[in-house]
Amino acid sequence: MRNSALSHPHSNAPALTSATWYVLGAGSMGMLWATRLARAGLPVKLIVRNCDRLQAYKAAQGLTLIEGEDSQKWDISAQTPETEEPIQRLLVACKAYDAQQAVAQIAGRLSPDAELILLQNGLGSQQAVAALVPHIRCIFASSTEGAFRAGDWRVVFAGLGHTWLGDADQGPPPHWLGELQRSGIAHEWSPNILSRLWRKLALNCAINPLTVLYDCRNGGLQAHSAEVNTLCTELSALLKCCGQAGAAVDLATEVHRVIQATANNYSSMHQDVAHGRRTEISYLLGYACEAARSRHFVAPHLQRLHQRLTEHLLRRGLPCN
Ligand code: NAP
Repeated sequence: MRNSALSHPHSNAPALTSATWYVLGAGSMGMLWATRLARAGLPVKLIVRNCDRLQAYKAAQGLTLIEGEDSQKWDISAQTPETEEPIQRLLVACKAYDAQQAVAQIAGRLSPDAELILLQNGLGSQQAVAALVPHIRCIFASSTEGAFRAGDWRVVFAGLGHTWLGDADQGPPPHWLGELQRSGIAHEWSPNILSRLWRKLALNCAINPLTVLYDCRNGGLQAHSAEVNTLCTELSALLKCCGQAGAAVDLATEVHRVIQATANNYSSMHQDVAHGRRTEISYLLGYACEAARSRHFVAPHLQRLHQRLTEHLLRRGLPCN
């Protein structure tokens, strides 16, 4: 593996007009975004959990981005949530279950014209964050990029993908999309980001829980296609009931296409359970079941799946929320 010399992004003449990209959460996605923005010479600052994490980061002397055979370290400045510094642009890169509390910690630092970019999977956490800071613009993102941590402060860019960004309140595209372009972050402004998030949630509900329950790779669900189809029928009807008919179009076809195309992969939920990590169940299948319940929509297969998954997580000593 080639390991380049330590790079100092701020010596790359950052654009004078760019606001600093504060990145809340230096996990897989936070590191993937921070290192690419820094590589483009843009001003970036990490916000880590607490003083212990800050000390550990300082000892590591930067974030390492690993792409194929290349490994490059970026000396990005870092701070704790308590730092007294106003924030104009914040990328929230925590897990869905941490996002609200993490934003609450820095809410007092947000400028009146601040913008938040929410990278969380599923639905529910974005709305919770937006309700917490109602005066702040929140941009929702849905990403098919793949990254994982190769130890502390090291991220592997594992899967090229695309990120859709959009404003659930139909605001215009932000001027900083050009900075993503410059950073090589493949993206698109989506006029209907909620539809994209619902579609991804439905795909996740049809695939991920079953891969956990059958302890299989995605391709293992080819042996359970009747069960997958039943879920797709119920999910399509639920999407329509939730005013998301567009997200329901040909859902089963796409689910089977994804199962085939990713047959050798373990789903993110399967990986979380296999590593004894908390899952984002409440923001995926849990959110779908709650959406059904609140609309008096009868979804017996989704409810049963949720119950089976909850029992499975509890048996393994993992949180079921
Ligand atoms: P992750 O690797 O677990 O990173 C989350 C980070 O948030 C951790 O570093 C955690 O800190 C930090 N954090 C939590 N609470 C915090 C707080 N109060 N203050 C500061 N930092 C805090 O998760 P991820 O894989 O990047 O996923 C983030 C989101 O992106 C999830 O919703 C996921 O579904 C979505 N997503 C991920 C991928 C992917 O390939 N990874 C792809 C698409 C979407 P500690 O390190 O101290 O625990």
